[in-house]
Amino acid sequence: MREVKLVKPEVWNFKVVGGEDAWKEVVYSARLSGVPPQVKDEKVFKMLVANDYGSALEHVTIKFDVKMSKGNAPEFLEHRMMSHSGYSTRYIEVSEGIEKKEKTYEVILPTHLLTQKEIREVMESSLHDSIKNYAQMISKETPREISRYVLPFAQAVGVYHVTINLRSLLNLLSLRLCVRSSPEFRCIASQLYAKLVEELPLLEGLIGCRGFMRGACPESGVTGVRVGKQHPFYPVCPYRNLESDAYIPTIEELRGGVEVKGFNREKAQMMREKIYGSWASWE
Ligand SMILES: Cc1cc2nc3c(=O)[nH]c(=O)nc-3n(C[C@H](O)[C@H](O)[C@H](O)COP(=O)(O)OP(=O)(O)OC[C@H]3O[C@@H](n4cnc5c(N)ncnc54)[C@H](O)[C@@H]3O)c2cc1C
Repeated sequence: MREVKLVKPEVWNFKVVGGEDAWKEVVYSARLSGVPPQVKDEKVFKMLVANDYGSALEHVTIKFDVKMSKGNAPEFLEHRMMSHSGYSTRYIEVSEGIEKKEKTYEVILPTHLLTQKEIREVMESSLHDSIKNYAQMISKETPREISRYVLPFAQAVGVYHVTINLRSLLNLLSLRLCVRSSPEFRCIASQLYAKLVEELPLLEGLIGCRGFMRGACPESGVTGVRVGKQHPFYPVCPYRNLESDAYIPTIEELRGGVEVKGFNREKAQMMREKIYGSWASWE
């Protein structure tokens, strides 16, 4: 049987259609709505993002390829405002595929989050068994569309070519750069975040979770995340500490009259870069 290989969730072929000037079309559309010429282009673009005048952002188109586990794929596809073409497990044997240098059974496991060696062994042996059974069925000429039913959640065949506009990508990032998002989706979102800021540096400091984007987090009252004892498996929300100068209240806290002493954007930005970097690395 071909080798079973642990791989990471990965985003590649990321590009903003129109390149580094793509954002200027957003400004063009804002000017049609009467934004006066004395306001500089850069400022107009940043204002549209910060103020969530989202429809103008739809003029920027982004394309990328992404690899994830088959299990994570339904979560990804919940984001309906994008176009995608996916890897077929009916027409392609899963050890083969696009842009692969060698034929292997690629799997994605969050092993870096496991502290217990015996649990890791159970996971690995379980997925080796399923893949062995799959390979055996294929070798006996069982149709791929039937053999695939024994494949594990971890199988890295959630491969999609995606076209998405900037408004929708910011919505996806705001939902998935949150500590409540799954580890694998956080890894993908963090890679998308880094690539987007690299391509459109004007977005630096403007993108993050919903709390960051809106100044108040809608995850009000979520025990273990924003209130109460910290959830044992979720990362700590970097904005939940009332005493910190990077505190972001929940909407309920704000309505309840909580006092926000100010928001240190630079500090928050540094914290974010560090957290997203560690999520993206999958280590
Ligand atoms: C932490 C977390 C936990 C989640 N848990 C669950 C869960 O337990 N169960 C579950 O089913 N999903 C869950 N989801 C998925 C979530 O409910 C959304 O389906 C997903 O995040 C996509 O968001 P979206 O609808 O904003 O994006 P898109 O589908 O890309 O839509 C973008 C925007 O377009 C508008 N829109 C799209 N479709 C419609 C429509 N039909 N009618 C009106 N407006 C529309 C909305 O304004 C929407 O925000 C979870 C998401 C997160 C981040």
